[in-house]
Amino acid sequence: MDAAAPSLEPSLATRLERLPGVGTTRGEKLAKLGLVTVRDALMHFPRDYKDFSGVHAVADFVEGNHASVAGTVDEVASRTTLAGRTMLTVTLTVAGGRVRGVWFNMPFMARRFERGMRVVLAGQPRRGRGGWEFAHPEVRWLAGDEAAHGSEWLAIYPLAEGVQQSQVRIAVQAALEHAAGICPEAFPEAMLTEKGLLPIETALWEIHCPSSRAAIDAARRRLVYQELFMLQLALRMHRGQQTRAHAAPSIAVDTRLDARIRARFPFEFTAAQRRVCRQIAADLVNPEPMNRLLQGDVGSGKTAVAIYALLAAVATPVPKADAAEPVGSAGPQPAAGVPARPERYQAAIMAPTELLARQHAASLERLLAGSGVEVQLLVGGQPARERRRVVERIASGVTDIVVGTQALVCGSATFRHLGLVVIDEQHRFGVLQRAVLQQGVAEPHTLVMTATPIPRTIAHAVYGDLDVSVLDEPPPGRQPVATYRVPPAEVDRWWDFFRGKLATGRRGYVVVPAVEESKRDLATISATFEALAHGPLEAYRLGLVHGRLKPAAKAGIMDDFRTGRIDVLVATSVIEVGIDVPEATIMTILDAESFGLAQLHQLRGRVARGPTRGICGAVTGSGDQPHPRVDAFVETCDGFALAEKDLLLRGPGDLVGTRQSGVPPLYLADLLRDASVVAEARRDALAVFESDPFLSDAKYDRLRKLVLDRWGTMLGLGQVG
Ligand code: ADP
Ligand code: MG
Repeated sequence: MDAAAPSLEPSLATRLERLPGVGTTRGEKLAKLGLVTVRDALMHFPRDYKDFSGVHAVADFVEGNHASVAGTVDEVASRTTLAGRTMLTVTLTVAGGRVRGVWFNMPFMARRFERGMRVVLAGQPRRGRGGWEFAHPEVRWLAGDEAAHGSEWLAIYPLAEGVQQSQVRIAVQAALEHAAGICPEAFPEAMLTEKGLLPIETALWEIHCPSSRAAIDAARRRLVYQELFMLQLALRMHRGQQTRAHAAPSIAVDTRLDARIRARFPFEFTAAQRRVCRQIAADLVNPEPMNRLLQGDVGSGKTAVAIYALLAAVATPVPKADAAEPVGSAGPQPAAGVPARPERYQAAIMAPTELLARQHAASLERLLAGSGVEVQLLVGGQPARERRRVVERIASGVTDIVVGTQALVCGSATFRHLGLVVIDEQHRFGVLQRAVLQQGVAEPHTLVMTATPIPRTIAHAVYGDLDVSVLDEPPPGRQPVATYRVPPAEVDRWWDFFRGKLATGRRGYVVVPAVEESKRDLATISATFEALAHGPLEAYRLGLVHGRLKPAAKAGIMDDFRTGRIDVLVATSVIEVGIDVPEATIMTILDAESFGLAQLHQLRGRVARGPTRGICGAVTGSGDQPHPRVDAFVETCDGFALAEKDLLLRGPGDLVGTRQSGVPPLYLADLLRDASVVAEARRDALAVFESDPFLSDAKYDRLRKLVLDRWGTMLGLGQVG
């Protein structure tokens, strides 16, 4: 090797700053984007592409059709229009004439052009007074002698503050060149051919430096397939390992226990609730850990089913062989001569918000008064001392049921004999959280509950293998909420109506939108509150809750509302999920068009809790515009029908659920848009697992290594390799 030119040993772990053309300064900037190594850069996928393909000769331009053209900057002129806007005009000399690019109110663009620069403009040209004109075109600055159409599709990368597209592009390009020949191919040759997948290296080049639209699609398909295939394989391996290593406790629900639990409730279970309880009981007795998703529309009574399962778990004694000696002072201390109470399994129920956790704890306490079952709340709003006390009681096994938020239960509690975990109102918890919660010798059974039907593909990707139960029958006497669309012109009439209902003793909600509950939102919310308090709702007692309130303050106001010290609760969508105040039966949703469909339906669910028919007015901000979501919402009260409609309206690639935490972090795949690939990858991954559960065949060497690298730590797959 030539000592004068130390060449870098090619490796995916090479730091970007060492690559030619990157360097330390640029390297530091890239690190802000999380791009440190060659691998990071290769896996930093474009979020979009600029289209520089199409017609390139002025003579062939057609008004309104996409075109691009290369030329040299001739003149850069800025002026202020009569309307007070700045207008930048850049004139190019191109083969066969001149064209102009025009930008309004983007004065900074002027600094980016200089006479003599070579650029490509792309967009839809229009014939102006002085010839062809592009309004706000895409621009590609050509470096040195760069050819105008080297790659017609230019990658656009996600950026961070202070990092520019060109810097990312340079780094990715350098990484691709550095990694030439060393990118590990996950799939055996035969599989690539059979599935028509691009080899890994081709796919990486084409995704970053595409040669055509079709090449982008093929590259994306290959990379998405690989990502989903590896995830499915990892999930399957995880499950295999769990069943081998940890049996779940066997929790038997006999007729006596069944009757005892049901007798605690102030109502008869519906047939659907009984059916789902039977399904759960059949899972619980089985030492294979339950992995069940319970879907049921808002108000269908999922909580009762959850409590049924919780009580079954905490009524079951831990077999002698598993019951360790009590530890710590908080442990059950038998008085001399009195036999210790046999240890029983513990259970946990986790809610997405503190408000909901507190509500669950309160209803459990009411239901279990005098039963000797210990329920503890574990939420962020508690004083640290109180939390420590609870955590100790959980660890020693005296606490039977823990109610809390995910962050706290997963983050701070260690259970002595955790038998069952219920996750409420979630499509946010996934297999990853489950992995975190496994403690003790046995793996707990898991029940996940949601009011939003999750497309199967997503459920599969998030939870791995799971069974589904459906509560398809509302509790008796429930009537669909009467829902009205209230255009601006009818708002006054609506408030008359709303007040009339309050006068008859109903309690009500007014829901205000808040995008992220930022300071600005808060100001808007307060202003709305004041406007209501001094306007249409002047005669009533109002309370205000939003996400920025301290949990204790929030709980206090909720309590006032529950007990009737407040007539109307003005709230952001913090009340969206799960809140149960049966006396509240009328709701106004302001700016209804700014809510998602699932969210609107959840909100309306708050006023469908008792025998009185709920009423909901969806006030829209602008009268004549079409509001397809609001129209769908007003049309039906069937949550499942709405969920389908929602998917249609939103179109692929925009399912809220996939963007939430708990979905495994994916680089490229979009669980909804790529639904068919999810299904295919899953089928294929399961087939590979069936044929070779440990991936011990030499042809799977690289695949095994890649899967372990990517998911091993997160899913605890250590022992497989
Ligand atoms: P969700 O499925 O939306 O979580 P909840 O479990 O909060 O619904 O139940 C909604 C309301 O219905 C609660 O007030 C609950 O007490 C009541 N409920 C549940 N099951 C029954 C039943 N079988 N009969 C009567 N009321 C019921
Ligand atoms: Mg609920």
